[in-house]
Amino acid sequence: MVDDINSPGGDLWTAESRDAETAANFLRPVNVASSLFFESAAEIFTRVHHEIRPRTPIPPIDVAYKKFVDPNSRIRLESGRLTVTITDLLEGAPAPVTEALAHILLNKLYRKPIARQHQHRYRLYLNRRDMRRRIDLMRQSRGRKAHKGPEGSTHDLVTIFEELNIRHFGGMMARPELGWSHIRSRTRLGHFDPSHNTIMISRIFDDPRAPRLALEYVMFHEMLHLRYPVDHSGTRRCVHTPEFKAHEKQFPEFKEARALLRKLW
Ligand SMILES: [Zn+2]
Repeated sequence: MVDDINSPGGDLWTAESRDAETAANFLRPVNVASSLFFESAAEIFTRVHHEIRPRTPIPPIDVAYKKFVDPNSRIRLESGRLTVTITDLLEGAPAPVTEALAHILLNKLYRKPIARQHQHRYRLYLNRRDMRRRIDLMRQSRGRKAHKGPEGSTHDLVTIFEELNIRHFGGMMARPELGWSHIRSRTRLGHFDPSHNTIMISRIFDDPRAPRLALEYVMFHEMLHLRYPVDHSGTRRCVHTPEFKAHEKQFPEFKEARALLRKLW
């Protein structure tokens, strides 16, 4: 997933970015052992197991990351062996998050109370905006066909795309897969997924009340993502390059369209 347009001024995202900030602050000053030296996930689970049941011999612990449709992880104790399967969403998560997950899963397994700090840290991490997007996309792409196809009840995305293609790209843009989202999302209005070469538009626009201009603008924005691919060099992804933004302003009704999106019907 590269990017999506969020509805400007949506309260939902404000709340989330506040969460993300709290999450960053929460994760920074931790003095847990795992932040001091590198441990594998299996080592973290082993250490936490010892903390929770200091007098019990530690069983062999296998930890694997798996693709699930949901963001949950699982733990199982079978013939003296602990098997932990963690959602691949958390592969590469900071060690304190894996440690929090170890506390949650092991305490659940042994039916012990889970300390609030572990639940809090784990939840904050999954609530980060980037993680929520990944969870959303994961559900869409793994759970079922990602979209409903281009033909809506009011608009046909192929028509919209080709009109914009002629008007703004000299008809030279190869058409990617186009589809309406399953959900009438007000927060994710459009989205270009380069790995599936797909532009997905929120079904909220497939509505006679939706101004066509708003839909056209969202489609145009996503087409620009095709035109200006994301630069993956370095750690920071520059999603809206200066060229992207300059081109976007050439949309004749740019301001009018943005204003329409600000007050979604
Ligand atoms: Zn964008």
